[in-house]
Amino acid sequence: MIGGNQFFLQDEGARIILDFGIPFKIRENYFEEFLKPRTSAGLEDYLKTGLIPPIEGIYRNDLLQIHQIIRGGGLPLHQQPAYDLLLLSHAHVDHGGYIPLLDPRITVACSQMTGTILKVMSIVGQAGLEKDYLEFRVRSEEGKMSKNKAEKRIERSFHLYDKENPFFREGKVLAHPVDHSIPGAAAYIIRTSKGLVVYTGDFRVHGIRKEDTFNFISLVEKLRLSGEKVLALLIEGTTLQREDVSGHYSEDDVKTSLYALMKSHHSGLIIVDFGPRNVERLVLTIEAAQSAGRKVLLRLPDAYLLREINLIDPAIPGPSHPEVDILLERRSTEPKKWEREIITEYKNKLITPFELRKNPDQYVVLFSFFDINEVIDFNLNQGVYIYSSSEAYTEEQKFDIKRLRNWLKLFNFEFIGDPENKTHNLPLHVTGHAYPDTIREVVERIKPEILIPIHTETPEKFIDIAPFAKVLLPVLGETLYLSPRA
Ligand SMILES: [Zn+2]
Ligand SMILES: [Zn+2]
Repeated sequence: MIGGNQFFLQDEGARIILDFGIPFKIRENYFEEFLKPRTSAGLEDYLKTGLIPPIEGIYRNDLLQIHQIIRGGGLPLHQQPAYDLLLLSHAHVDHGGYIPLLDPRITVACSQMTGTILKVMSIVGQAGLEKDYLEFRVRSEEGKMSKNKAEKRIERSFHLYDKENPFFREGKVLAHPVDHSIPGAAAYIIRTSKGLVVYTGDFRVHGIRKEDTFNFISLVEKLRLSGEKVLALLIEGTTLQREDVSGHYSEDDVKTSLYALMKSHHSGLIIVDFGPRNVERLVLTIEAAQSAGRKVLLRLPDAYLLREINLIDPAIPGPSHPEVDILLERRSTEPKKWEREIITEYKNKLITPFELRKNPDQYVVLFSFFDINEVIDFNLNQGVYIYSSSEAYTEEQKFDIKRLRNWLKLFNFEFIGDPENKTHNLPLHVTGHAYPDTIREVVERIKPEILIPIHTETPEKFIDIAPFAKVLLPVLGETLYLSPRA
């Protein structure tokens, strides 16, 4: 299964959770846009459909109470949570989306950057599917998060670490940054009584932060060569199912393609579409646009995200970048507090659809399919839409592409990178996950005794990749023993 990582590690007294994400594959078996888990039923819909495991001592007692009423029993309430630490690898919802269901006393450890992205997601309301549960509020100065609802306020304990301070649990856990399609991603090295347990999270080596991943591999290899036992490696294998990822393009190649397309389309508006919070792609698009003599127009949520991220990592440009302006879209409600902040702070950079239509050939607009009807307000009759996102996998996504095609026809826009109608060979998207030969290199250099494939549809492929290791294929809900039971 790809995503929905939820792992529970037990060693003597230590009990650690590795990620607690939304398993989309299971979710789409039962739910869709208009059929969601009922928030009034607490945990019940999630437990019944197997979206979360029936483990004692990890969930919020208030949600467990509802569960007990509905079942007339079930999971008991607890005084103290059975786990006290959750290592969150990054801010994608397939890794952290169900954290709000957990007992808030379980400390969530994540990078400062991940904490910032979670905060922005909650404030701008892009938290994802279980939005009602995802209304986090970070009060980073205290390292605490809370769920801000009038009737109950849940304070969640967070440990936000930075580069200077990656160790915790008396040095037994080390967080290490890795390259992925969202900033702030980390892998973890956990020192157990039987050896090191290494958790990769999601990673790759073809983005801007590839050195982070290489340093992580070198570190584990060095530990092994200095005599430490690498007991187990939990490693993602997202790309192993697809043989066609052998193109081995990098984010830099995508930037080159974007630049070439922007350069060759000098009249009309250009819209670029990529996944939410893919900050690296966003920055590369700004650079490509700058070289092609266009400014990038950000939507308010992206401007807010960039502003917050820039405060944590000044190397990532904020909305004050000279080649960035902000699109002020039509709205029917009063701006929220965070929107007012952006509107006031960057008042000299605001562009309305009316202003945009005067000189559309000077701009690149960052939109996704869900923003497409905003194009109506631009009142244009030509332009280019560059799809720089992953292929459509689910039926729903395929339908969205069909709808997108209809919209673009309506606007007389050229659709470049239509996933079902490739008209050229320029790489317009690369995956956030390591290519197969990188996975092979990681496995060979880390050389674990036990390998546990995760985040993959083809776990059995690791048997060939790691002939020297014992490959344990995880089964949902079952315990894997990393050492003989005492
Ligand atoms: Zn993932
Ligand atoms: Zn991810």
